[in-house]
Amino acid sequence: MLDALTHAENALLGERRPLTRAEVDAVAALSLDHLPDLIALAHRVRLAYCGPEVELESLINAKSGACPEDCAFCSQSARYATEVDVYPFLDLDEVLEAARATRAAGATQFCIVVAVRGPEERLLNRVIDAVKVVQDETGLEVACSLGLLRPEQAQRLAEAGVKRYNHNLEACREVFPRICTTHSYDDRVATARLAIDAGMELCCGGILGMGETLAQRIDFAFELAALEPCEVPINLLDPRPGTPLEDQTVLSPREALQAIALFRLVLPGAWLRLAGGRERVLGELQAMGLLAGANALIVGNYLTTTGRSPEEDHALLDALGMPVADGPGEGRFLVDADGAHARPAQPPRRPTIPVTST
Ligand code: SF4
Repeated sequence: MLDALTHAENALLGERRPLTRAEVDAVAALSLDHLPDLIALAHRVRLAYCGPEVELESLINAKSGACPEDCAFCSQSARYATEVDVYPFLDLDEVLEAARATRAAGATQFCIVVAVRGPEERLLNRVIDAVKVVQDETGLEVACSLGLLRPEQAQRLAEAGVKRYNHNLEACREVFPRICTTHSYDDRVATARLAIDAGMELCCGGILGMGETLAQRIDFAFELAALEPCEVPINLLDPRPGTPLEDQTVLSPREALQAIALFRLVLPGAWLRLAGGRERVLGELQAMGLLAGANALIVGNYLTTTGRSPEEDHALLDALGMPVADGPGEGRFLVDADGAHARPAQPPRRPTIPVTST
């Protein structure tokens, strides 16, 4: 059975080609007793494609709660009785203060997130104002997560200097309809494509542990890979009281590490970012997430849950000997003789895999 790992290693590191679904299935079929071997391979792939650096980002939940959508994991949906804070778009000063704290925490990316189906005109204008102020005052790369976009909205965000647009698929096509009924999987794919077409980098991932099977987790990784995202955030469901998923059993740490490693094999050149739920799900094994293929972290708090302190994450990275990716203009794009670099290499283009229904 370990032949599957050798075969995957030869494909990714020898031939430098993407794995086929059958090759990934063969690796996923290994028992969790072989997890250390899978993790070791995922780490080698991460180093070969992305280098040792870890990119840090922090988020600001710039408009919280009262969202009309019904995403089953989300405490910000107005449809569920949760205790999430509800507030309109923050003042510019508050956004800027959070950006400065992000810079002080050693992060290079700052993501402005709002809980909406998609931005209406007034909100979009306020976000664009905030993007400009944050860029001018902090030099941070600014990302946005504003929900579903229309083409002209994507264009305006790109023109305002938004570096990366986050729009998660959340789950694979098969699972999505039981997670959300107020918009479709194809709606989400369409916005992800609009972001790329407008010239922004795409940040597109989702949440693991929402009752999907291992095969559906792999479906999800391939569906994401077909969109060729620059960054893939991996959230591990930390069930929120009051949501339909409040009683969902969380993934075991080993299941989560297996999923992270498989995502690295399917998405060798992406920033694979450990996001919400890592503390709850990985627990004592949190460092292993960064040895299992992840090469980016959200530092500080998440949208509706509290993360650990940036100092703890810096100590973790120091202990692992993993440098923090520098910010723009500080050598972030250097490529060494072995191809290691802070920004991931573009992996070889994989054969097109349709992610929209026909
Ligand atoms: S995930 Fe986003 S779109 Fe869905 S309910 Fe939460 S805030 Fe709204």
